[in-house]
Amino acid sequence: MANYYQPEIETASREEILRIQNEKIVKQVKHVYENVPYYKKLMDEKGVTPDDIKSVDDIKKLPFLTKNDLREAYPYGLLGTDLKNCVRIQSTSGTTGKRVVAFYTQNDIDLWEECCARAIVAAGGTNEDVCQVCYGYGLFTGGPGLNGGSHKVGCLTLPMSSGNTERQIQFMMDLGSTIICCTPSYAAYIGETLKEKGYKPEDNKLKAGIFGAEPWTEEMRRDIEASLGIKAYDIYGLTETSGPGVSFECEEQTGMHINEDHFYAEIIDPETGEVLPEGSKGELVFTSLDKEAFPLLRYRTRDICVLTRKPCSCGRTHVKMSKPMGRSDDMLIIRGVNVFPSQIEAVLLNEGYSANYLIEVDRVNNTDTLDVNVELTPEQFSDVTSDIQAKEKALEAAMRTMLGIGPKVHLVNPKTIQRSEGKAVRVIDRRKLHD
Ligand code: ADP
Ligand code: ZN
Repeated sequence: MANYYQPEIETASREEILRIQNEKIVKQVKHVYENVPYYKKLMDEKGVTPDDIKSVDDIKKLPFLTKNDLREAYPYGLLGTDLKNCVRIQSTSGTTGKRVVAFYTQNDIDLWEECCARAIVAAGGTNEDVCQVCYGYGLFTGGPGLNGGSHKVGCLTLPMSSGNTERQIQFMMDLGSTIICCTPSYAAYIGETLKEKGYKPEDNKLKAGIFGAEPWTEEMRRDIEASLGIKAYDIYGLTETSGPGVSFECEEQTGMHINEDHFYAEIIDPETGEVLPEGSKGELVFTSLDKEAFPLLRYRTRDICVLTRKPCSCGRTHVKMSKPMGRSDDMLIIRGVNVFPSQIEAVLLNEGYSANYLIEVDRVNNTDTLDVNVELTPEQFSDVTSDIQAKEKALEAAMRTMLGIGPKVHLVNPKTIQRSEGKAVRVIDRRKLHD
């Protein structure tokens, strides 16, 4: 049976959710217009006033905010309240450029932690669980967000932070962790280390994992589920909108429910900015409906995904987003062809390889080159030494079919590609160095 942290909201009717959103957006736009001069200016330039916004249907009249705006307004330009009302900052991991600093009032933190609590309960969490949080703590939102959510659910919380894998495993075993929260790449690494130490999946007490902060494929999910003996749930969020918990997966595992009472989601055409109908693939845009300290309206995430309102068997009514399979700025354009690292990962795992890989892009004699280094598992290593070239050719062919261009594949020895304890670095693009 499905469990909910806040059933009245999570299963509310569409009409009820719209009523909540409409009420909140009117207030929120006023709040921003009166307190954030940076955004007021953008609204003035577009000729929109708070009176024009009467419901969420009117959100499309508002100007967009981009990461560039956040950089320009750094550090205080988008603050929505007096600093004396703020109790915390968090910051992006800086995957793409200069860090963003986000501010929180106590109320912002409470609502954020409630969102994370919803995710933990959706993964089967109760106050009887032992929740091991091995996302990084500190400026990164992963650790603090899930830590707060775990407290709200009443789990025994293990604030491990990331790294020190030996100790992670010792605590997991000694304290009987039942839920683990970290990046999918770190989960894969922990699974690999457990195996090396001779543990079988059934030797741990884990039942669920809550993994996010980076793109991961269905193939990787299956691998992690098998290696840890758990059900693996996706969770999504970004510092700009609070952190993890903007959306989360339920037991159906077919997309993440967006917490619509706090965030209004749109999908737009990244080229034209036009709002696309439900079911279209495009860039995800969020409006925070009740954030006080860092109230972003129409923030362009650059994450590419699809929204659906197909009814969900879990009983939750909130709209679902598909796994974002890369940001618009993760996309590599190689010899004119669009390539997402996640496509390469899907081929590797489908062909029986591990998710330990590194993509290298360069430009030689004015032609783009794409090299994919793929690590062999110890078993594969002893199997394939004789026909390594044939294996490489086979992988190259499978990738050419998927991508439309042919990479050069290099099978490399076990343990030669660096493991990640946080967000994995999968791509080195040397073309940028020449530009
Ligand atoms: P940074 O932009 O420095 O990575 P954040 O830590 O705020 O800063 O990361 C937010 C981004 O991480 C999202 O915009 C998205 O691209 C990615 N992300 C977060 N959760 C997921 C997820 N479950 N699946 C895919 N990508 C995710
Ligand atoms: Zn559901």
